Amino acid sequence: MSEASSFVPSIFGSMVFNETVMKERLPKDTYKALKKCKDEGIPLDMSVATVIANAMKDWALEKGATHYTHWFQPMTGVTAEKHDSFISPTDGGGVIMEFSGKELVRGEPDASSFPSGGLRATFEARGYTAWDPTSYAFIKDGSLYIPTVFFSYGGEALDKKTPLLRSMDELSKQALRVLRLFGDTTTKKVTASIGPEQEYFLIDKKTYEQREDLIMTGRTLFGAKPPKGQEMDDHYFGTLKPRIAAYMKDLDEELWKLGILAKTKHNEVAPAQHELAPIFSDANTAADHNQLTMEIMKKVAAKHGLVCLLHEKPFAGVNGSGKHDNWSISTDTGRNLLDPGKTPRDNAQFLLFLAAVIKGVDDYQEMLRCTVASAGNDHRLGANEAPPAVISIFLGDELNAVLESIERGTAYHEKAQSALEVGVDALPHISQDTTDRNRTSPLAFTGNKFEFRMLGSEQSISGPNIALNTIVAEELCQFADKLEKSKNFNKDLQALLQKTIKEHKRIIFNGNGYDESWLAEAEERGLANLKNTPEAMRAYISPKNIKLFTKHNIYTETEMKARYEIHLESYSKVINIEAQTMADMVKRDILPAVSSYMESISSAVLNKKAVCKDLPCIAETETLKKLSGLSDSLYLKCAELETALVKIPKDAQKAALYYHDTVFALMQEMRAIADEMETMTSAEYWPYPSYGEMLFNI
Ligand code: ADP
Ligand code: MG
Repeated sequence: MSEASSFVPSIFGSMVFNETVMKERLPKDTYKALKKCKDEGIPLDMSVATVIANAMKDWALEKGATHYTHWFQPMTGVTAEKHDSFISPTDGGGVIMEFSGKELVRGEPDASSFPSGGLRATFEARGYTAWDPTSYAFIKDGSLYIPTVFFSYGGEALDKKTPLLRSMDELSKQALRVLRLFGDTTTKKVTASIGPEQEYFLIDKKTYEQREDLIMTGRTLFGAKPPKGQEMDDHYFGTLKPRIAAYMKDLDEELWKLGILAKTKHNEVAPAQHELAPIFSDANTAADHNQLTMEIMKKVAAKHGLVCLLHEKPFAGVNGSGKHDNWSISTDTGRNLLDPGKTPRDNAQFLLFLAAVIKGVDDYQEMLRCTVASAGNDHRLGANEAPPAVISIFLGDELNAVLESIERGTAYHEKAQSALEVGVDALPHISQDTTDRNRTSPLAFTGNKFEFRMLGSEQSISGPNIALNTIVAEELCQFADKLEKSKNFNKDLQALLQKTIKEHKRIIFNGNGYDESWLAEAEERGLANLKNTPEAMRAYISPKNIKLFTKHNIYTETEMKARYEIHLESYSKVINIEAQTMADMVKRDILPAVSSYMESISSAVLNKKAVCKDLPCIAETETLKKLSGLSDSLYLKCAELETALVKIPKDAQKAALYYHDTVFALMQEMRAIADEMETMTSAEYWPYPSYGEMLFNI
């Protein structure tokens, strides 16, 4: 056996309290109870939890862990943890290592500093964590990590995991109703499966440390375009530089130890940009693993003298980073419900699930758009590289022809004699490679899954998947309500599909999403075009969406209003920090540096004239004039920005709009001036590493 063939399996999941470890270490009935809890949601007895806690602790101690932590995902978008050691004092003045069932199941972190959107103020400051047994515990940095949900005293979700779990349950429930209609009596559970492709930048730590903007905000607030950008297309899938390859190897190994199925790695479009994709897993595990992946990416980078930038737009004028959320639904019997299948019956079932996605995305396009809105992602969506801010679905020509045939009752290709009869005729073969060609679509059907391409690189995948799961659950619920009463299933199914396609085909767009003309056409079709975060966030408080999420018990109305406030506040905070950082950089670095440079030019002119007073000194004089004018403009704009920053409206929605319309607009003007100054200032004087130095020096 080669070394790798045993090495990778030997480290894979070595730090995870997974199925194998549980089977090995838990008494049979305990293991069974846990499995029932995971698969069927049957609550665990405290006595069972105690046995599990003990086994977990023994395993963790053997792996060198001294602490445990309830690991949760508050609304900050990153994960949170508070570590407790296993120690418990003994009579003799020593300690023993203990971990009780209660400690495993429930925690009370002092949580008053996590964003709650006012949820906790009305109840009490405490937040509670509760073990999520559907995601494996693991060991990292000497602690046993227990994935948990996080909620308030009143039971309101304060995190991203709780609603995700609720949405997965609801999707399963509604999908099962539909499966029963097709005679499936064996499936017990349907799961949303996610494969998130993660983009990131790597730059040298030395250049990073000289950029206040990167340190404070994760993106460059200034920076003139380098002479070479991504126009040569020589980076995409290009050879990995040795330093990058070493990083990726290390990263893979760290992820594998944590049971993360890191699979694909390659260079991306922009210089210094890369991607990692895991093999897909259930939505909950995928969300946990994606959070871990982002964290480990940063950590491993530090070991290699690199910095991993996960911001959606670290460099202006260069492609930004996104996350592709590959979403499908599958049964516990191993069937992917978005796979068209081969028999007419499977095809019919597939078409109904497909119709649910089409109708759901059309009905709730604003909500879906809202889940990918953030200050960072505003730089991408609609900016001619990522998908536009308008939601649409790409199906490909073959599937489109099938839907047209159903809608119009006409033949779907030349050889077909008549229109497709659902449940009787088989679908034509849908080739996978034609479905994946369109890279400009926000939501593309790629053969047996949907690829949602609007996510920002830094964001948690929970929000978008909560929305996808819930809107599809809602449509399946509507379909099941109708078809459960049907006396003639195939006929009613065909009619339902026809009606759905007719009413919702406006959301299907198979053309180029980057085309100017598409936006005009989308407007004609009545599709939403929510251009920025403050606009998009309103979806959280629209009656239609509140009705959707409360009907399925995903969010309460209070939780939705809280989320609305939290996201708006977070947007405002990001812009505020960026604006303050800009002002700081201008006043303390850029203006003084340019002033010094001008001084050196001035003395050069004086010295030259002293030698020969007739020298025209055109280069110096013109540069001086131009730079002096730009310095004045920059100074004045900066003063304007600072004045604007003391006039922030109190109301969260008004504040966010103000940050967008006024503050951000001023920031862009400042940047334009400063970037022009950079192109005219001697590199020796410019206070920051250039784009060229950051993007091309590894
Ligand atoms: P690419 O987009 O680069 O062509 P793929 O589409 O094959 O590559 O895979 C991209 C991601 O989609 C991977 O993370 C993969 O695990 C995931 N994926 C593949 N099949 C499914 C599925 N049925 N459900 C969810 N994710 C999937
Ligand atoms: Mg893909």
